[in-house]
Amino acid sequence: MTDFTQRFLFDDTDVRGELVSLGESYAHVLAKHPYPEPVAQLLGEMLAAASLLVGTLKFDGLLVLQARSSGAVPLLMVECSSDREVRGIARYHASQVTPGAGLHELMPEGSLTLTVDPKQGQRYQGIVALEGASLAESLSGYFDNSQQLPTRFWLYADGRNARGMLLQALPADRLKDPEAREANWQHLTTLADTLTAEELLGLDNETVLHRLYHEEAVRLFDPQVIHFRCSCSRQRSANALVSLGKDDAQALLQESGGNVVIDCQFCNQRYSFDAADIAQLFAGGGSAAPSETRH
Ligand SMILES: [Zn+2]
Repeated sequence: MTDFTQRFLFDDTDVRGELVSLGESYAHVLAKHPYPEPVAQLLGEMLAAASLLVGTLKFDGLLVLQARSSGAVPLLMVECSSDREVRGIARYHASQVTPGAGLHELMPEGSLTLTVDPKQGQRYQGIVALEGASLAESLSGYFDNSQQLPTRFWLYADGRNARGMLLQALPADRLKDPEAREANWQHLTTLADTLTAEELLGLDNETVLHRLYHEEAVRLFDPQVIHFRCSCSRQRSANALVSLGKDDAQALLQESGGNVVIDCQFCNQRYSFDAADIAQLFAGGGSAAPSETRH
């Protein structure tokens, strides 16, 4: 098993943690486009981040992380569902991506949007500037600014593995004194800061936790598997055509020489619709529900 998240809990304090490891799903995402290494790294960190964020929320639906900038990487987008299915994509200007470039060079003055889209209930969105030295730092800053539980991220990816760790301070229960809580949080996060990219990328979860927290009582829970899965479908593509309206869909058909092809950018799947298909889509006055337009 190469793709999973795994929670851990400190027994004597109110801090929880989670580790994520992505191999196969990361490979699936990278296989769709010839990403240069720095872009592949960022995309891996983003996949790890989304997988960890899903574990901090109690919801049934989709979490979307979207980073935008006017630099070499205009868009990074990753989705992770509450069923732990991930997909992701990056847009980039190959000529502007220099070897070894980090977040700042690739996405100057960028912003990061976090969207939680539950199957039922209100959609929630938060935005943070990509100001930190890394995606992990920017995400940690997001939690600082949004009055949520103090949360820190550590994210690393090398084009083969994407790894991440999260620590989150829970409401006071076992440890009630505010000063002791703060000191404990500082202690645990300072130790986590000593973890290098090589260590997190190269070691299993037990070893990572032992290396960092062998003096603490830590409980590691069962892993939860993560898969790559694209949520595109012929039906969704059909819905998108229906939502254009009959006239625009017909115009598109003319422009495309009689065969409208919709490409999924996440997985490269192609859905094509000829004149008969499109006539059928609108046969009932466009009765296919045009509700899903996520692509
Ligand atoms: Zn797809």
